[in-house]
Amino acid sequence: MARIELENITMRYKNMPPGAAAVDHLSLDIKNNEFFVLFGPAGAGKTTTLKVIAGIEFPNEGLVKIGGEIVNLVEPMNRNVSMVFENYALYPHLSVYDNIAFPMRSPLHKKDEEYIKKAVERVAEMMRINGLYERKPSQLSNGQRQRVAIGRCLVREPNVFLMDEPLAHLDAKLRHFMRGELKEMQNAFNTTTIYVTHDFMEAMSLADRIAVMNKGKIEQLGTSLQMYYTPVNEFVACLFGEPEITIFPGEARDENGRFVLKALGQKTPLIPEPDVARTLKERGIASVDLGIRGIDIDFSFSPQDSDRIKGTIYAFEPIGNKVIMTVDVNGEKIRIAAPNSTKADLDQTVYIKCNMKNALYFDGGSKVFITRSEIQKYR
Ligand code: ADP
Ligand code: MG
Repeated sequence: MARIELENITMRYKNMPPGAAAVDHLSLDIKNNEFFVLFGPAGAGKTTTLKVIAGIEFPNEGLVKIGGEIVNLVEPMNRNVSMVFENYALYPHLSVYDNIAFPMRSPLHKKDEEYIKKAVERVAEMMRINGLYERKPSQLSNGQRQRVAIGRCLVREPNVFLMDEPLAHLDAKLRHFMRGELKEMQNAFNTTTIYVTHDFMEAMSLADRIAVMNKGKIEQLGTSLQMYYTPVNEFVACLFGEPEITIFPGEARDENGRFVLKALGQKTPLIPEPDVARTLKERGIASVDLGIRGIDIDFSFSPQDSDRIKGTIYAFEPIGNKVIMTVDVNGEKIRIAAPNSTKADLDQTVYIKCNMKNALYFDGGSKVFITRSEIQKYR
């Protein structure tokens, strides 16, 4: 049980070019018992951040605190953190049982064999590996190996669990199942958990809070819903949601006393909601980027009403529970989440309509979030 604080952490690896940093002046305050997710693309600095907390890497600048104590000079084994890494290193000569039991036989955390047996059985059942006790790691599938590694991590009662993409090598079904198990486990264990992933569904379903990392810095810190409904910039907006949000440029202006957005090469402008129009006017922003999610675009194969935008089907991808349809409108590619029953041919004409109530508005220059309709509801 512990609060984890990082204060202004910078980590440069020796062989990095001058000026580069894996983690760049990063500060974080993770609450006791929180399930905290570090989320971001490869190379963002997520693993390095975990290693700094674990004590495997020593930061060039900044303080690491666990439970209020500065631990910069404390050896990893004395920090009482339990880790599972993406490249789960099991002891090849030990059986599954002995691998899981290993942390409880180390001199520092030694337990008696009866206690160990109970603990191993508890996590082995949770990880669905209780039939594999006698096997060696070489006799396991990747997914089984990964579950043994997670089991070995969970078997202790540490200050904090650090998990680096622990489900990355599992197939989709098992990953979904394990996600639920991990969440339940964390509720039951009441232990601060820092969980790294680059899978937005995993991040959203597990996290109390998420930090979106990019280039060693935090882009946004908040809940899943904040990331989805009020992303701080286009980078964050693009990370959450499937299909990826479509963002296209527009020009905001007064037209015959009406505030409108010219976009997608259309004669008929898009009409922002009144509260959004007010904000854009007040701030005098003319160049906006409009973000529309796939579920906020209606489509039909006949013109219906005059304010529909005409496009052609550019791509059509059934992904099981829905179809992702990409529509070309004057060269702009618009991604739509369509029902499974949708039938369409490539290059077929389609008419779309954006739900402006849910549109996100970004500054066309800086790509920073400006507003959305009814923003107070989402803050
Ligand atoms: P992530 O886990 O988000 O993918 P990492 O923390 O692994 O990111 O890496 C962050 C940056 O640091 C990357 O640019 C990576 O190439 C670099 N890096 C990571 N480990 C080392 C290392 N041991 N030596 C040099 N550079 C490294
Ligand atoms: Mg990593």
